[in-house]
Amino acid sequence: MSSSQNKNRVALITGSTSGIGRAIAEQLSNEGFTIAFHSRSSVVDGEVLAGSHPNASYTQADLADQTQVKKLTSAVLAHHGRLDVLVNNAGINAMIPHTSLKEASADIWRSLYEVNVIAPWTLIAEAEQALRKSSTQDCPSSIINISSHAGVRPKGASIPYAASKAALNHMTQLLALSMSPTIRVNAIAPGLVDTPMTESWSEAHKLWKEKSPMGRGAKPQEIAHIASMLVSSSYLTGEIILSDGGLSLT
Ligand code: NAD
Repeated sequence: MSSSQNKNRVALITGSTSGIGRAIAEQLSNEGFTIAFHSRSSVVDGEVLAGSHPNASYTQADLADQTQVKKLTSAVLAHHGRLDVLVNNAGINAMIPHTSLKEASADIWRSLYEVNVIAPWTLIAEAEQALRKSSTQDCPSSIINISSHAGVRPKGASIPYAASKAALNHMTQLLALSMSPTIRVNAIAPGLVDTPMTESWSEAHKLWKEKSPMGRGAKPQEIAHIASMLVSSSYLTGEIILSDGGLSLT
């Protein structure tokens, strides 16, 4: 899809003031999309980003709160009048050894599911009508969920995190079936990516350096490139693109 064809198309990327979300927002903006930036708390960063990308907006919302999740979609639709792409990128993690069952309390399970599973579900439900309206046969609307390799293999920072991302992957495939052909739904399941979330994860950096075929974690821009590929496709749906530099092969 050329940047002139994307000219009036709008993409909402959650958690887009840092890390993977910001890289996806910048990539899609370079490709001509109008970006709806969002974050939980970094309002100044969000407003600066919106001011430096053509026609962009910024909305603050805590996705752990369902009222704010719904307000996010309505604010974006009220401002831009349409939606073509929704990237559910915002997510939270919890580092808990898989053997420490009591440490993974019910509250931790609930908070991870709230942000990593239920918020994407509500955003998709609230955005559905607008995504259907803007969709065309040549250019079906697109949803991308950012899950994790931990949702594909029995690995990850904690069992509740891994299970929440596995739920997001399964939701992706179920929605790909139920929303087709008007709306395509795919997921990207990154391995290690160099972002603020993983700065202190020295063991993971060592693992990727020593064991993965690519010999390193991904840069956020490399995940953004995959998002761009998924958005530009008029055919792919229900895919979960494992993006771990080949670690799962070892
Ligand atoms: P990040 O910390 O830079 O970004 C996370 C974003 O989520 C932030 O913008 C934050 O504001 C937002 N967020 C968190 N809780 C929120 C809430 N309650 N309400 C609204 N926004 C909230 O980290 P990142 O590494 O760029 O992570 C982006 C996504 O990629 C996450 O879903 C994460 O689980 C996933 N992921 C990251 C890695 C990695 O190695 N970095 C690997 C696999 C999956």
